[in-house]
Amino acid sequence: MTNIAANSPLTRPVTTLRGVGPRHVELFAKLGITTIEDLLLYPPRRHEDRRTSSTTAQLKIDEAATVLGKIVAQGLTFFAKRSKSVFEFILDDGTGRLHCRWWNLPWLAERFHVGDEVFVYGKLKSLKPRTMDHPETELVEAGDEASIHLHRIVPVYPLTEGLSQRWLRGLVWRALEQFGTQIPERHVELLAGAALESRAGAVLPSIPPSALSPALRLSRAAAIHSLHFPAELAEVELARQRLGLDEFIDLQLAVRARRQKLLAKAKSLPCKGNNHLIRPFLAQLGFSLTESQTAVLREIRADLARGTPMRRLLQGDVGAGKTVVAACTTLMALESGYNVALMAPTEILAEQHFRNFVRWLNPLGVGVVLRTGSRKSSSNSQPAKTHAQLFIGTHALVEDTFTVERLGLVIIDEQHKFGVTQREQLLRKGHYPHLLVMTATPIPRTLGLTIYGDLDASVINGLPPGRGNIKTFVRGPDKLPKVWAFVRERLAEGRQAYLVYPRVEDADLKTGTKAVLAEFEKLTKELAPHRLGLLHGRLSAQEKEAVMADYRANRVQALLATSVIEVGVDVANATVMVIENAEQFGLAQLHQLRGRIGRGAHDSWCVLVAAKLTDTTRERLKVLAETTDGFAIAEADLRLRGPGELLGQVQSGAAQFKFADLARDLELAKLARELASVRDKFSPARGKV
Ligand code: ADP
Ligand code: MG
Repeated sequence: MTNIAANSPLTRPVTTLRGVGPRHVELFAKLGITTIEDLLLYPPRRHEDRRTSSTTAQLKIDEAATVLGKIVAQGLTFFAKRSKSVFEFILDDGTGRLHCRWWNLPWLAERFHVGDEVFVYGKLKSLKPRTMDHPETELVEAGDEASIHLHRIVPVYPLTEGLSQRWLRGLVWRALEQFGTQIPERHVELLAGAALESRAGAVLPSIPPSALSPALRLSRAAAIHSLHFPAELAEVELARQRLGLDEFIDLQLAVRARRQKLLAKAKSLPCKGNNHLIRPFLAQLGFSLTESQTAVLREIRADLARGTPMRRLLQGDVGAGKTVVAACTTLMALESGYNVALMAPTEILAEQHFRNFVRWLNPLGVGVVLRTGSRKSSSNSQPAKTHAQLFIGTHALVEDTFTVERLGLVIIDEQHKFGVTQREQLLRKGHYPHLLVMTATPIPRTLGLTIYGDLDASVINGLPPGRGNIKTFVRGPDKLPKVWAFVRERLAEGRQAYLVYPRVEDADLKTGTKAVLAEFEKLTKELAPHRLGLLHGRLSAQEKEAVMADYRANRVQALLATSVIEVGVDVANATVMVIENAEQFGLAQLHQLRGRIGRGAHDSWCVLVAAKLTDTTRERLKVLAETTDGFAIAEADLRLRGPGELLGQVQSGAAQFKFADLARDLELAKLARELASVRDKFSPARGKV
């Protein structure tokens, strides 16, 4: 952690603690722990209330509970020619007996003995006899400090092979005893200010003070203590919020520092342009820009002409036409004599951009270079040594071996698939070049401000005109014959189709999960005489590109694929998409997938086939049938499925929080922003945001 002074004892390695030897270093490294502070900030997975442990007699089916008892019998049984085994012990706590079973862990027989005292934690599976399968266990050992492990709320940590729960718990306890008083407060002035304000109930109107004050009143040291050994379970959540707030403030301050450094250090690369490339480009494009696209370009042009480098986020739903905006931005930089780098998350997408840009820019005399993992040696569409060029690639662009002179503009497509680090790495290839990042992941505004606080945002509203409709249907597996008949009809009309499955192989009969490799032959017969292409993540880049080329040229009419086609792929003649096991995809992801069709003038159809069409599944998938608005879908996804995927992507693009949770802590995020901006008001170098 950066805010702790270098001489603080908390920055010392964990090995300074008694009982931690060199052999622990590697084990701790697996948990991300190297210093004492890391240990103190290692969050428990859960807590167990051992003040009153449940008794066997009270256990209820499917409810998680802890029981402390003595092993009265144990045994190991092998079956299936000794290839499988089950180990079982019977626990007695005086009120009843509990059977605990483990499959295929025969070595447990050596660990647990009759007479041992054990905590088990798990869910009761059956009542007669009372049975738990694969419960967590903790042996009570002679000489255990009862004050740490018994009669209190105890932390249960995520472990790694070789570290025991009790040992780690004891270690954290001792570390807290030894260093607890030396945990420095963070952001003292800010928090004191906020606590005051919220008590006064004034200045920070957007935050309900009642919701925040308890967490704010906690000192960081107290929070860290409650994180591990709370007196009441409710303290854990408050502690998490308090530590999460520190993380949010750290992020906000870092974002602001980045912005300020940019303002202070960056020499401007004014890209005024003179339209000598843009004008002919727009003339040969074949369509005119929408109002929204034009408005965004006006903002971008103003950014590029300014004394500080552009830092802009371009949001626009799938198919909104972000690529053309990227092309115009590219041309502005090229006109001013600067090279441009465009980074995309997949090779398929990079190749597609490459083809488009070659088609658009070569006639203007501009060279386009492709650089991906499998194409290390850049393929140059047209040598143009004297002119500025466009470099397109995957993350291969951030590798050291890629250098570019006079880098004036960096564009990142599908930003949410990258991390901030990769973005910064690419920017460092030049001297504060302009930056345009694009994403189709709709993010609620507050979230966006937290995550992309250092970027100005533009939005392309709506889709370009002249698109056919997309109709979306939800179907059960019994309707598949009809679905394939429908697909055959569309193919016979000359259209093309995507057929999407969740897996490459390892189809799973139990859940009805299908895989592309297994479906290929079946669908080849089903859709004959039309030809079928196969696309998935295990193919080499060359193989993928060959399949895509066949599909684009309509040499294959249907593309059987995994979600690798999720981002960016653009084939206007494709009008049908069938997604099997649709229940396994997030709504936002289904929306992205569906964005592959409806790109031309023909009407399009998307059929979502669920392996089992339960009411909940139907309800969830219906959202897609009812709207094609990405924001509405993202919100529904958040509501129905929780923050998972969307936030996962967003979060990985910003920061890894240990305690803060963007889904639950938006209010805290807001508070952190306001606190950070309050601080800026007192500092002379004020940020722009
Ligand atoms: P996305 O925003 O998802 O990246 P694309 O840039 O791939 O979308 O655009 C989708 C399709 O829309 C492309 O085929 C593109 O050429 C076309 N397009 C973009 N802008 C317009 C427009 N103003 N009028 C008509 N078609 C457009
Ligand atoms: Mg795109």
